[in-house]
Amino acid sequence: MPEFILNPPEVESTPPILYPRGPNEKDWANKSIRARVDRWFWVYEKGWFINWDQDRWPFLTIVVHHSETKSDATPDEIAQIHKNNLWIPCYQNPNDNDPYVFGLEPHSGHCINGRETFCCYHHLIYPDGKITTELQALTKINDVWFIDMVGWHAGDWAINNQSIAICLIGDYTYADPSETQVKALIGLINYYKMFNPNVAVVPHKKVSRRTICPGNHWFGWEPSIPWTMDMSSLI
Ligand SMILES: [Zn+2]
Repeated sequence: MPEFILNPPEVESTPPILYPRGPNEKDWANKSIRARVDRWFWVYEKGWFINWDQDRWPFLTIVVHHSETKSDATPDEIAQIHKNNLWIPCYQNPNDNDPYVFGLEPHSGHCINGRETFCCYHHLIYPDGKITTELQALTKINDVWFIDMVGWHAGDWAINNQSIAICLIGDYTYADPSETQVKALIGLINYYKMFNPNVAVVPHKKVSRRTICPGNHWFGWEPSIPWTMDMSSLI
């Protein structure tokens, strides 16, 4: 099991020398790439990997998802789906050959309970109301609550950086989540409102037109969620 050290001690002023391959001058001139290289994390014996979490913003949004899986999908199964669908393509897509990641083994740098996870939701909620934590949601920086581990869940990098992702396990495209599951979701939303009373609470499909997540069949349960805007147009 590799060891991970998150947020390594201040990286020297020339971080590219720490990169396993080293960006060339042309890459270095690319502002969007340059902006990403001031923080890294170390994977034991494998070198330095980019720390995507450095793009974190203050906590402004909660995005609600469904997993579109069977209702007993395990956290490991969800993480594997995200690794296959998001992380591996990002690190191995020849059409998006970011020199900082292209061809490298994917590493999220997200370690929970001593294990690296590729899950992109902060919390999962099961039909029996059980809530799990897959990513550390918040961290306090200069008295402001920021997203700690950024989840790749919204299909929009800016939203990812400012949001907590909560996922109802199950496929609710044509069905309702259980009452217990919805109650747990409301409880979790209320918990995070303590950190930002003005947080925007939105379904995934409100921030991405490419999805119907968390489902179309939500007239039964949608009204009970404290969304921050009118969702009737999405039904
Ligand atoms: Zn979603």
